[in-house]
Amino acid sequence: WTARDAAAVWHPFTQHSTWTGDRPVVVDRAEGPWLIDVDGRRYLDGVSSLWTTTLGHGHPDINAAITAQLAKLDHSTFLGTTHTPGIELSEALIALAPKGNGPELTKVFYAGDGSSAVEAALKIAYQYSTQTGHSRPKFVRLDQAYHGDTLGAVAVGGHDLFHQAYKPLLLDTIGVPSPGDRALGPDRNAIAEAALRSVMGEHGAQVCAIIVEPMIQGAAGMLDYDAQFLRTARELADAHGALLIFDEVATGFARTGRMWAAEHAGVTPDLLTCGKGITGGYLPLSAVLAAEHVYEAFLTRPGDSAPRTFFHGHTYTANPLCCAAALANLRVMGEQDVTGQAARLGERLAKLLEPLGSNDNVLEIRQLGTMIGVEVAPVGDRTGFAVCQAARDRGVWLRPLGNTVVLMPPLTLGDDETDLLVNALAEAIDEVAA
Ligand code: PMP
Repeated sequence: WTARDAAAVWHPFTQHSTWTGDRPVVVDRAEGPWLIDVDGRRYLDGVSSLWTTTLGHGHPDINAAITAQLAKLDHSTFLGTTHTPGIELSEALIALAPKGNGPELTKVFYAGDGSSAVEAALKIAYQYSTQTGHSRPKFVRLDQAYHGDTLGAVAVGGHDLFHQAYKPLLLDTIGVPSPGDRALGPDRNAIAEAALRSVMGEHGAQVCAIIVEPMIQGAAGMLDYDAQFLRTARELADAHGALLIFDEVATGFARTGRMWAAEHAGVTPDLLTCGKGITGGYLPLSAVLAAEHVYEAFLTRPGDSAPRTFFHGHTYTANPLCCAAALANLRVMGEQDVTGQAARLGERLAKLLEPLGSNDNVLEIRQLGTMIGVEVAPVGDRTGFAVCQAARDRGVWLRPLGNTVVLMPPLTLGDDETDLLVNALAEAIDEVAA
């Protein structure tokens, strides 16, 4: 299989194998938090299949919901028709949406994955500016940010590795230092806040939106930061007539120990993007939750010279199977208090990881709930990968971000598996350092 894969498949980020010297695991099936390869080897899925499978794999309720939906309606476009799972899921998401200082989120626009939700939010924000005042062609974004890999999402990213190659193609953005960037020193939150104030003071009238990942920048290497930054972002967006976008693609659906990371700050945005865990990781679906005032700007009014519309929508938008999976996921999350389980798992992981904090080979442990980055001291090249490979030898599947090893397990992970996860990581770090 690996030879056939190498001969025929172009993987995201090209072939891992060519730059790690490693061969991909050929995943055959999965059960709960376990991935099983074609040779029957089991790996604890320590990163929830790229941060998605919040309830683990093969949850009977989600499987049953998809099967039942499949028997009724597999697909029907959302452009001009609607369907009951799409309506019910919108209602459920609106009921769950974060509350706080800022507008209520009252409308749901569906997209296919995290990047396409971000893309839709950016287009909504720009078009909102043209329909409510004047064209505001700039976006404010954080350094190190990752919001996806379509061109709009790349433009509001701040990670040179992903963005440098496309710079000539990108939207007009203004980068602000990340409040989570340790290189800024102990005053990083204040420095970033001052920079945001200064940027908005200078360019505010040209800015259609500020986009941030609230509380913790995941793909940047799990860079957590203070809630105050989000309160300031809300205040500055309001003061300058810009929209505030929270990208909760990674942080949403209880990842951080609350349903939304926004809840840690008590702030709501005008647009919230979510994806990944929305279906429990079973099927691709994402959404933009929008405030009523944003939606209203897209309604045709008497006296308009042309009909208003949002010029955007994809073929598989709100696919009924995906909506049914998401509804089942949200039902289970509510019935089993998965948010509470996530908070407890986060606390248990923090306790188990504590001894690693004084390991000479660990530079820093960063965590918000079940989003965890363990930054290891470099030993030669690609230390993060080496640690993940050593963990893989111990039956634990992890993926690094540079030299930060990410732990983002299913929220329902049991105690024994949590022990295995942390023990394998600790042993892997020591093995690589030895
Ligand atoms: N936004 C954030 C915050 C993300 O973490 C990601 C994916 N890691 C994306 C957007 C893009 O999502 P997708 O890969 O589903 O397009």
